[in-house]
Amino acid sequence: MAVWQNHDYLHFQPQTNSLENKVILVSGASDGLGRCAAIEYAKLGADLVLLGRNRDKLTQTMEKVSQYPVQTLAIDLDFASATAEDYHSLAANIEAQWHRLDGALLSAGILGQLCAIKDIQIANFDEVMNINVRSQLLLAQALLPLLNNAPSSSLVFTTSTVGHAGRALWGSYAMSKFAVEGLTQTLGDEYKDTTLRVNCINPGATRTQMRAQAKPDEDPMVLKTPLDIMPTYLYLMDDASAHITGYCLDAQPK
Ligand code: NAP
Repeated sequence: MAVWQNHDYLHFQPQTNSLENKVILVSGASDGLGRCAAIEYAKLGADLVLLGRNRDKLTQTMEKVSQYPVQTLAIDLDFASATAEDYHSLAANIEAQWHRLDGALLSAGILGQLCAIKDIQIANFDEVMNINVRSQLLLAQALLPLLNNAPSSSLVFTTSTVGHAGRALWGSYAMSKFAVEGLTQTLGDEYKDTTLRVNCINPGATRTQMRAQAKPDEDPMVLKTPLDIMPTYLYLMDDASAHITGYCLDAQPK
C-alpha cells in the first residue's frame, strides 16, 4: 500500500495536553507497543479504553495510566474466542460512557508459527488470521459508528515490513499483515470524504516480546524501544495528521 513519504512525523512533538478531550481505544494494551502508546496517550490527557486478554497484565497498564488525571475503561477481550456480539457489547459500553471515540489504535497481534509456506499447519494459520485479521475487521466494524460520532477521528491498524513485501519463512504472519494493509486501504478509501482517517503503522523491529519470539538469537539492546518510536503513534492520534488517510507510516523507515 502507499507509504507516507514525508518523515517529519518521526520528530513529532505534541503540545502539552494535546489529547485532552479525546477518547482513545488501544488494543494490545497489556504489553509492548500498545501498552507504551496507552501510557503516552494518557500523559497527553486522553481518556482511554484499554483492551487486553490478560487481566493481571492489563491491571499493570492501568496502574501506570492512573498516575494521570484521565478516565479509563479496561475490558478483557480475548480475540481468539470473541464473537461479533462481544465487539458490539464493547461498543455499547463506550457509547454509554462517552458516545464517541476520537481514536483507536489496534495493536494486538500474534506471530504464529514462522516457517515455510509448505510447512504451515492450517490450525495455526487459522489462529493467526483470526486474531490478526478477522478480529481487526470485527472490532473496526463495531467501532465505526463511535468513530463517526467524533468531530475528527483516527483509526490506526498495525502492519509489519513483511506486510509490505513477502519474505521467506514469515508465513501466516506476513499474509495476515498484507490483509491488514488491504483493510486499511479499502476502509480509508470508503471514508476518504469524512472526518474519519484510517491509516496503519509499521513499527519496524522493536524491543518487545513478539520480536524476541521472532528473533531469539538477536541482541535486544540493538533494537529501538517502544518509547523510541512513539512520535509516529502520537502523530497519528493528533489533529496534526487529520489530512492523512489510507496510508502506512513507517516508524523506522530505511
Ligand atoms: P507484544 O509485546 O507481543 O504485544 C502483543 C499484544 O497483543 C499483547 O498485549 C497481547 O496480549 C495482545 N494479544 C495477543 N493475542 C491476543 C488475543 N488473542 N486477544 C487479545 N489480545 C491479544 O507485541 P508488540 O511487538 O507490541 O506488537 C504490537 C503490534 O506490532 C502487533 O500487531 C505486531 O504484529 C506489530 N509489529 C511488531 C513489531 C516488533 O518488532 N515488535 C514489528 C512489526 C510489527 P497479552 O499481553 O495477553 O499477551
